[in-house]
Amino acid sequence: MHYSLQCILVLIAAYGLNIFYTSVLYHRALTHGAVKLAPWLHWLVINTGCWVTGIDPKTWVCMHRLHHQYSDQEKDPHSPVNHGVFGTLPSQVKSYERIMKGLILRRKEYTSVIKDLDFDISWVIRSHFWWAPYLMHLAIAILVGFFCHGWWIGIAYWVGIMSHPIQGWMVNSLAHQYGYRNFKTDDHSTNNTLVAWLILGEGYQNNHHQDPTSAKFSYRWFEFDLGYLLCLVAQSLGMLEIPRLSAKHLQI
Ligand SMILES: [Zn+2]
Ligand SMILES: [Zn+2]
Repeated sequence: MHYSLQCILVLIAAYGLNIFYTSVLYHRALTHGAVKLAPWLHWLVINTGCWVTGIDPKTWVCMHRLHHQYSDQEKDPHSPVNHGVFGTLPSQVKSYERIMKGLILRRKEYTSVIKDLDFDISWVIRSHFWWAPYLMHLAIAILVGFFCHGWWIGIAYWVGIMSHPIQGWMVNSLAHQYGYRNFKTDDHSTNNTLVAWLILGEGYQNNHHQDPTSAKFSYRWFEFDLGYLLCLVAQSLGMLEIPRLSAKHLQI
């Protein structure tokens, strides 16, 4: 196989693994209960999530629920309305750190948001080893580059698996600023087709804010939610269940 094709496949595989964790497992399952994970998958995500993505699942869920609660208001952890399109990237990193520390200190403003979660912050985070997953992926990238006789393939792995901050920025910023709206929600959420195609349907923020507990983020014939397709595949493999489909999907 041609080397450049190998690099692209490694990039897609690493990116796909990362985004499956964040979009399907962290977001649709743990945050909103839009899909119900099989017990073994629930165990797997809470025990490996931090290692795979570098992001603590409990902190992610807390931050994202706060985003829904205060969407584009002053208390939104990441909004282009408050921080500008590019300022949303550092604001989401700062909010993540603040919420993580708040959860470790058991501050009520954060713990009250995630009362239903039956797991704690990852021990990697509690033990101040937050950097360990990043170091592990760097080591894997170097090993992949070494054994595959080319550094580009290692870089492809690194970029794919560590893409979460950029994915998050595109969704939180671009899909709350640019795009069309299907619903009059109380925020600035939009449906951004480019972001939706790149990030497994997450760019349909306006649809998602209208009905956060729906597993499917696409509503109209020209919208395509690849994340929902992954949910259907995962359901057919017994990995999860999709409890319901929003009635609103049938209305437009
Ligand atoms: Zn949003
Ligand atoms: Zn959400």
